[in-house]
Amino acid sequence: MKIAVPKERRAREARVAASPETVKKLVGLGATLTIEAGAGAGASMLDAAYQVAGAMIAADIGPALAEADAVLKVQRPSADEIAKIKPGAMLCCIMAPHADPGTLKAAAARNLVVFGMEFIPRITRAQSMDVLSSQANLAGYRAVIEAAAHYTRSFPMFMTAAGTVQAARCFVIGAGVAGLQAIATARRLGAVVSATDVRKAAGEQVESLGAKYIFIDLPEGEGGGGYARALTPDEQKKQAELVANHVKSQDIVITTALIPGRPAPKLLTRAMVETMKPGSVIVDLAAEAGGNCELTKPDEILKHHNVSILGFTDLPSRIAVDASQLYARNLFNFLQPLVDKESKTLSPKWDDEIVKGTLLAKDGQIVHPALGGKPAPAPEPQTLIPASSPSVDSGAPTQPPQRAGEPIPAPGDEATVVPPRRPSAS
Ligand code: NAD
Repeated sequence: MKIAVPKERRAREARVAASPETVKKLVGLGATLTIEAGAGAGASMLDAAYQVAGAMIAADIGPALAEADAVLKVQRPSADEIAKIKPGAMLCCIMAPHADPGTLKAAAARNLVVFGMEFIPRITRAQSMDVLSSQANLAGYRAVIEAAAHYTRSFPMFMTAAGTVQAARCFVIGAGVAGLQAIATARRLGAVVSATDVRKAAGEQVESLGAKYIFIDLPEGEGGGGYARALTPDEQKKQAELVANHVKSQDIVITTALIPGRPAPKLLTRAMVETMKPGSVIVDLAAEAGGNCELTKPDEILKHHNVSILGFTDLPSRIAVDASQLYARNLFNFLQPLVDKESKTLSPKWDDEIVKGTLLAKDGQIVHPALGGKPAPAPEPQTLIPASSPSVDSGAPTQPPQRAGEPIPAPGDEATVVPPRRPSAS
């Protein structure tokens, strides 16, 4: 079982798909690993550490790609990489097929067995493989750190002989995996935190983190599987009034609202931004899915009326060591059950719920039902893990999960990243 790990080459990507820890575990399963020289440098994982763990380092990854039974990546491969991978090999990465259907088609045409890691079903058994969760958790944390860095005032309250410095007021819109982590982080930094969501279940989670929950009274804001539904025009109007009244008094706004299969809802208008205090900061985690703020520009920092609007789409990559460690563990936890212990070869059980839910292309065809592939037989009933179970400290969390047969969230899957464990504010 040969495994190759190329260096990530896409812009703003510092993560790596294997860590020395997971290399050691994969070697223990009987794998031979080749890592491209410098692949882990952006995540402070040096070649020497991979060698100690049992991997070979290749200055040119081409020959290893031509021989590997599995190729592990964070981002989808380039056309050049696809052309070098052995037909029939397994490719595991965040494929983002809605943002870039051409790459999946090219991988299918090359006869690769493509697993889209963002499609891991959110079921109990797959929790340790949940890439969207692990990366979204870190994105929520990092969003607050970015906000603090761009905010020219203090997060905590200070009482000094020269006077009192007021605590920052931080408002989190969307209390899913990333939002809950943002709340916990902002609280740790000493901000006064409030949050909103459309799901009733979110209120209790927000309050248990010590933040104030503000909401519009909806009959039911959930659209199934723990996800939000799109609001009706009337509900949108009520929510806009709520947000407009609240943001005026806020210093920091972190937006994370997403609805699976749709563009991000626009919740912060230009007019609302213009009512915010000079020096306020908005971090829009939904930037890649179109943004929750109508002024957001992906990967740009802009200033409007003295309000900074951060549209970073690479928040997990900005915390590349931890994001790589968690991503690599997610990948190992996904691969481990696919390895036949006796033959020490990769032999997926094609009717397994996780395999079926994650498999995007095989035998030259796109097979995932959500991508127009032939629907697989109905999976076993899934057990969703409530968001209230996550914990930041355990290393989990980030973005809308995909379930087999469900529509995929809007483009932007690859950078985000979102777990169901509730962070602790303590
Ligand atoms: P998400 O990324 O799809 O959305 C982020 C948040 O935005 C959600 O809380 C959503 O309700 C909210 N939102 C959407 N529209 C909004 C609006 N107009 N105004 C305010 N907020 C809005 O969500 P996520 O972080 O992936 O989590 C969604 C659900 O999935 C949660 O219930 C969580 O418990 C569950 N989850 C389950 C698992 C698992 O079972 N393994 C893992 C992770 C998350």
